[in-house]
Amino acid sequence: MTTYAPIRSRVPFAELTTLRLGGPAQRLVRAESTEAVVDAVRAADLQGEPLLVLGGGSNLVVADAGVPGTTVEVASTGRSVRRADDGGGLLTVAAGEDWDGVVAGALDDGLAGLECLSGIPGRAGAVPVQNVGAYGVEIAELLVDVDLYDRRAGAVQEHVPAAELRLAYRTSGLKGRDDAVVLRIRLALPAGPLSTPIRYAELAGVLGVPLGERAPAAEVRAAVLALRRSKGMVLDPADHDTWSAGSFFTNPVVPAATADAVALRAAGVTPMPRYPAPEGQVKLSAAWLISHAGFERGHPGPGGRVALSGRHSLALTNRGGGSTEELLVLARQVRDGVFDTFGVSLAPEPVLVGCRL
Ligand SMILES: Cc1cc2nc3c(=O)[nH]c(=O)nc-3n(C[C@H](O)[C@H](O)[C@H](O)COP(=O)(O)OP(=O)(O)OC[C@H]3O[C@@H](n4cnc5c(N)ncnc54)[C@H](O)[C@@H]3O)c2cc1C
Repeated sequence: MTTYAPIRSRVPFAELTTLRLGGPAQRLVRAESTEAVVDAVRAADLQGEPLLVLGGGSNLVVADAGVPGTTVEVASTGRSVRRADDGGGLLTVAAGEDWDGVVAGALDDGLAGLECLSGIPGRAGAVPVQNVGAYGVEIAELLVDVDLYDRRAGAVQEHVPAAELRLAYRTSGLKGRDDAVVLRIRLALPAGPLSTPIRYAELAGVLGVPLGERAPAAEVRAAVLALRRSKGMVLDPADHDTWSAGSFFTNPVVPAATADAVALRAAGVTPMPRYPAPEGQVKLSAAWLISHAGFERGHPGPGGRVALSGRHSLALTNRGGGSTEELLVLARQVRDGVFDTFGVSLAPEPVLVGCRL
């Protein structure tokens, strides 16, 4: 059944994004079933209109001028589980389902694997788009396949294997492309009640387990939510530190020689965090680089209406009444400050719409 809420005109993106920034969506269609998503996207494409696919707006920076054409809000619902003999399950989720509800529901069903991805805002369809990850787990490890609407072919493609989506650190072949709309995702989840092995030192410390050990998955979820709250990384309308798009910059992945040069420049400060990355490269901590380039938590942008979060130097926040341009000015100051201090380029993690850094 095709279900739309009424089409609305000139809806401010400030009402649609977690940053609470951005000008109007010329036309907003809220599509509440998979068929409605396909119909709305197809109709916009037939009209030759610009199209933006919107989930929960938690990874979007939208220009103050707004977005022309049609914005399709993916609000489809539905989930089902096919059990395996070992107690695990194949979880199929519609793209419009609230992600944290998916995580909580899987745990309630006795399925593990998603506990470290608790508390991440947004909807299920966007999860493969940037290969969502947190506390040592990425969705690439659990994603089996997706159903897509291929806008060029004008056709639904079912069971597109995860291996074809080019999932990598906070990116995929879907990110920033807009030529395919995720309709459903399928996840292979092991049986609970124990979590998958804990790989993140801070989380292992809070849980009191050695790295690589398992813990009750429900306890892991609670610990992750508490850690995230302490960093302003769980949405709370009353807390301006959470009026963000999460981490604004990805952790830079650089050749080992570059990492050595950065460590040399940082010598005498504090030991520089460095983590192994694929192909002998090194992942640096963007938060560390930002704070050691002189941008402390709470650092204000021009006018003080945007600022680094008071609890996490990697989140750029709207303190109320800010503008996207003000946020971008602050982001440029941070990016340029890190480059001048360490010679490392920071790249934005959210998708920028109608604006650039
Ligand atoms: C407080 C906070 C904490 C966060 N923590 C994390 C974290 O720990 N780890 C992490 O990885 N991310 C994190 N994020 C970022 C964000 O929550 C995730 O990237 C999330 O998956 C985005 O989902 P969304 O539905 O809000 O997507 P949106 O912001 O609505 O869209 C993001 C992009 O995906 C596209 N898109 C959305 N839905 C679809 C679809 N169905 N098909 C095709 N394209 C689509 C959009 O066009 C856009 O380009 C955080 C954000 C906030 C605000």
